[in-house]
Amino acid sequence: MTAEWPPVYDPSYVPPDDQEHWSPALETMHPAERDVLIAAKLRRQAAWAYERSPFYRKRWDEAGFRPEQLKTLDDVRRIPIVTKEDLRQDLLDNPPFGSNVCADWRDILRVHGSSGTTGIPTVIAISKGDWERIGEAHARVEWGAGVRPGDTVFMAAPFSLYMGAWGMLVGAERMGAKCFPFGAGAPGQTRMAVRWCLAARPSVFYGTPSFCLYLAETAKEEGVDPKDFGFRLLFFSGEPGGSIPGTRRALERVYGGPVIVDSGSTGEMTPWMSNGGCRHAPGMHLWQDMVYTQLLNPDTREAAPYGGEGVPVYTHLERASQPLIRFWSGDLASWTDEPCACGRTYPTMPRGIYGRVDDMVVVRGENVYPSAVENVVRATPGLTGEFRMVVSRERAMDELAVLAEYTAEAADSPDAVDRIARQLQSDLGATLGIRAGVQLKPPGELERTQFKARRVIDERDLYQDSFA
Ligand SMILES: [Zn+2]
Repeated sequence: MTAEWPPVYDPSYVPPDDQEHWSPALETMHPAERDVLIAAKLRRQAAWAYERSPFYRKRWDEAGFRPEQLKTLDDVRRIPIVTKEDLRQDLLDNPPFGSNVCADWRDILRVHGSSGTTGIPTVIAISKGDWERIGEAHARVEWGAGVRPGDTVFMAAPFSLYMGAWGMLVGAERMGAKCFPFGAGAPGQTRMAVRWCLAARPSVFYGTPSFCLYLAETAKEEGVDPKDFGFRLLFFSGEPGGSIPGTRRALERVYGGPVIVDSGSTGEMTPWMSNGGCRHAPGMHLWQDMVYTQLLNPDTREAAPYGGEGVPVYTHLERASQPLIRFWSGDLASWTDEPCACGRTYPTMPRGIYGRVDDMVVVRGENVYPSAVENVVRATPGLTGEFRMVVSRERAMDELAVLAEYTAEAADSPDAVDRIARQLQSDLGATLGIRAGVQLKPPGELERTQFKARRVIDERDLYQDSFA
C-alpha cells in the first residue's frame, strides 16, 4: 500500500502459491500497531467524507463531531452511528442516489443496489478506483480462504444488482483465478450446474451453503455423486451456514471433505469480504485494516468485550465513492481475540453471524422488514390490518407468504376477496422488490397479542444446527 489516500495497490502483485498470506505484514501485524494504521486511514476517510458528503456534514455538525477529533482509534466512538433507516430517509430526501456519493459522478464505474423495503432502491455507487480496491481486498480474503490462481471457481450465485457474486468475481479476477460465473436461480439451472461441474471439474464452489446442499441433492437425483465434482474448497457467503457445525458436517459428508470457509458482511459495506474465514477453523476473521469492524453492545453502543456478543458496526477505510462510517448492521455475533492457526492477528467471530437484533428477514438477498409489509397491508382497503409473514424455503429458493385478514364487509361482496388479494400481491411486489404469495383469511382468524407481536415466522432455521 502506498501512503496516499485512497490507496492505490499494485495490480500486478500476486504472492507465490505456497504463501499463507496475501499481505503478510498487514495480516500478522500486532493488533496495537494495526490500530495506529487504522486510525490513520480513518482520519483520511472521515475528512474525505466530511468535505464531500452533505449526508455526513449535516449529521456530524449536529452531533458536534469533526474528523480532527480522531486522535486515536478509541475516538471512533465519537462518530454518530448510521442505520439503514438513515440511508433510506436520505434516499427519500435526495432521490435517486442520496447525498453521500463522494466521488465525481464521471468516475462512477458501477451502480449496484437492492430494492429496499419501501420501493426506494438502495443505491451502491462504486468508482473505478474503489472497484480496484474492492478487487484487491477480495483477492486477499479469497487467498486466505485458500483460492489460488490455478483454481477454477464455480460461482453459483445470481449476477444481478445484488453485490454478492460480483464481489467474488472481482476478487478472483484480480488474483488471476479462472472464473466460471455460472449464476443461479433460473429454471433448470441447477440440473445444468450438475452437468457443468462434472464436465469442467471446477476446484472451488462459491455460493450459499443451502444452494450447495441443493446442488448435491439435485446431483443425486440425476444419478451423480457430488464427490465426483472434485471440489477442493467450498467458499460461502449470503447466509450463516458456513460457520454452523451441523451444516458444515453435512457438506463435508456429501462432498467428501472439502475445506469450508465462510465470509460476508452486507452489500452496502462492500468490500463485504472484510468478514472472511480461513481454512483452519469455522467462523470469520474481521480484516479490520480493510473495513474497521467492532461489535457493539446493542444497549450501550459501546464495544463489547472479547468473548462477548454484540452488533457488528462497520466503517469503510478506503472507500472514495459512497463511504459508510459506523454503519449499524443489526446482525448479532460474538467475537474473540484468540489466536488462529493461520497466524492472522485479527479478531474473529467464531460462530459467524448468527442472528438479528431486529426482526428483519433476508429473502432471496433482499432485506424485508415487517414494517414495510405492515405499511402495505394497512394501506389496502378491505383488510383488518392484522398480518403474518411466513418465510420458507422451496428447493433452495426462499419463498415469502403474507397472511392477512379481509374485513367482514369485504366478505359480503362476491369477488371482493379475490380482488383484494390481487391488489395486495401486486403492491407487495412493487414495494418489496420480490414476489410474495398472499393468503387472505376470514376476520379474527389470526391470533392477536397484547405484547410485541411476533409477525414473522421463519421456517428456514438459517441460524440453527438443522442438518446435524
Ligand atoms: Zn485463521
